[in-house]
Amino acid sequence: MQLSFLGGADEVTGSKHLLEVNGYRVLLDCGLCQGHRWEAYQKNKELLVEPSKIDALILSHAHIDHSGLIPYYVKSGFKGHIHSTFATRDLCQVMLLDSAYIAEKDAEYISQKLAKNKLKPVPALSTVADVEPALRLFHAVNYNRWFEAVPGVKVCFVDAGHVLGSAIVLLEITEGKRTFRMTFSGDLGRNGLPILRDPTIVEQSEVLIVESTYGNREHEPVANIRENVKKIINDAIGRGGKIIIPAFALERTQEMIYALHQLFEANEIPEIPIYVDSPLATNVTEVFQMHPECYDQEVFQEFLEKQSNPFGFGRLTYVTTKEESMALNGLREPAIIISASGMCEAGRILHHLKNNLEDPRNTILLVGYMVEGTLGYKIQEGLSPVHIFGDPYEIKAKVIKMDEFSAHAGASELRAWIGQIKGLKKVFLVHGEKSAREALGEYIREQLHVPEVNLPVLKDSYQV
Ligand SMILES: [Zn+2]
Ligand SMILES: [Zn+2]
Repeated sequence: MQLSFLGGADEVTGSKHLLEVNGYRVLLDCGLCQGHRWEAYQKNKELLVEPSKIDALILSHAHIDHSGLIPYYVKSGFKGHIHSTFATRDLCQVMLLDSAYIAEKDAEYISQKLAKNKLKPVPALSTVADVEPALRLFHAVNYNRWFEAVPGVKVCFVDAGHVLGSAIVLLEITEGKRTFRMTFSGDLGRNGLPILRDPTIVEQSEVLIVESTYGNREHEPVANIRENVKKIINDAIGRGGKIIIPAFALERTQEMIYALHQLFEANEIPEIPIYVDSPLATNVTEVFQMHPECYDQEVFQEFLEKQSNPFGFGRLTYVTTKEESMALNGLREPAIIISASGMCEAGRILHHLKNNLEDPRNTILLVGYMVEGTLGYKIQEGLSPVHIFGDPYEIKAKVIKMDEFSAHAGASELRAWIGQIKGLKKVFLVHGEKSAREALGEYIREQLHVPEVNLPVLKDSYQV
C-alpha cells in the first residue's frame, strides 16, 4: 500500500491523505486549507491527485478543514462514494453551503485586489451551486458497522468524541495474502466533553495516522466547565452588563447552550435571556437535534428521558432575521449573546463587539482557539484599540478566556489514547505544527517504543 500526504500533514488545516491499494485510490478527508486568503486559494487550487481517479472518499468529520474541498473535487471529476456517519453527512449540508458562500466572497475580494494591479479576476474554486452534486455522493453509515470502501479496504467508523458525528476511521486492508489494521484518528476529542461520547479506545492497529494539534500542550480540565461558566455569568450579571460569546457554529455553540441550560435547571444562574445570533449555528443546532444517536448518556438522563430539549428552553431565542439581530443592539438589561464567527473575523459577532466592547460592565467570553492576527486574537491579547469595520474601539469590557471547551485531545490525552493501541509498527503524525509533532513523536518513539515514527510533510509518500 502506498500512503501519500496531500495536505494537513505539517499544518493543521487541509487534511487529505491518499491510500493506493490493489489498484484503487481512497482519499481520507478532503479538507480546505485555511489561512491567508491568497496563499490558501493557491494551495487549495492545486490538485495533487486527479479527482476522477479517486475511487472513494472517507470523511472523518464535518469540520471544513477536513471536508471543505469536497465540492471542488466533485466539480473536478470525483464520482465515487463519500462515506461518513449520518451526522457528518447532515452537518456537511449546512457547513459546505456556508463555506461555499464564504469562498465566493473571498474570490471576489481577491479579484478586486488583483484588478487594482490590472490582473485577471479569479473564480471561486467551488460555489454554492457545486454543493448539491457533492451531497448526492454521500453514503452514510452508522458507527461500528464495517463496510467495504473498495476491494481490499474495509472501513468502520467509531466515535472520536470531537464534534457531532466525528469518527476515528478503522481500516482493515488486504493486499494479496497480507491483511493488516490501520487507524486514522481524524481529529481526536476529549473525555467528558458535554453532549458527546468519549473517544473510542482502539485496541490494536499496526499503522496509525494520528493528529497532533496539541502534541505539546495541555488544556484546562473539562470538569471545570460548569463551575467556571457559572462564576463568569454570575459575576457579569452582578456588574449589570451583557455577556458576548463569540463561538464556532459547530459544537462550541451547542456545548455552551447545553452548559447554560444545565445551570438554569439547577437554579445556579439567574434567568436572563440568551440569544443565539448566527444563522449557521441555528442550522447546525437543528442537525444536533436530529442525531440523538451521537449523544452521551448524560444528555439522555438529564434531558431526553424527561422529555426536555437540551437545545431549546424558555430563556433561549434563536435569532434569524437581520432585523432581530439589529434589535439586540438596543438591549439595556443583562443578556447572553452567542454569535459567530468564532474568531470574530466575519458575521454578526462584529456588530455585537462593536456595540459592547467599550462598556466596562460587559463581558466578552472567549471559548475558542484564536489564530494570531484575527480580531478574536487581538481582543484576547488586549491589543486595544481594535478595528471593526474600519473604526477603532477601545477594549473596556472584561475579557475572559476559557480553554476548557477545547474539542481536541491535549498532550497527555493524546499520549494515553495512542498508548492503549497494541501492535503499533508505524505511526504518522499529522495535523500539527512542528513543535507539537516533534514532542509527541519523541514520546511515541522513546516511551511507547514504536519502531517507526514519521513526521510527513506535504507530498511525502510511503510504502506501508
Ligand atoms: Zn475537527
Ligand atoms: Zn482538524
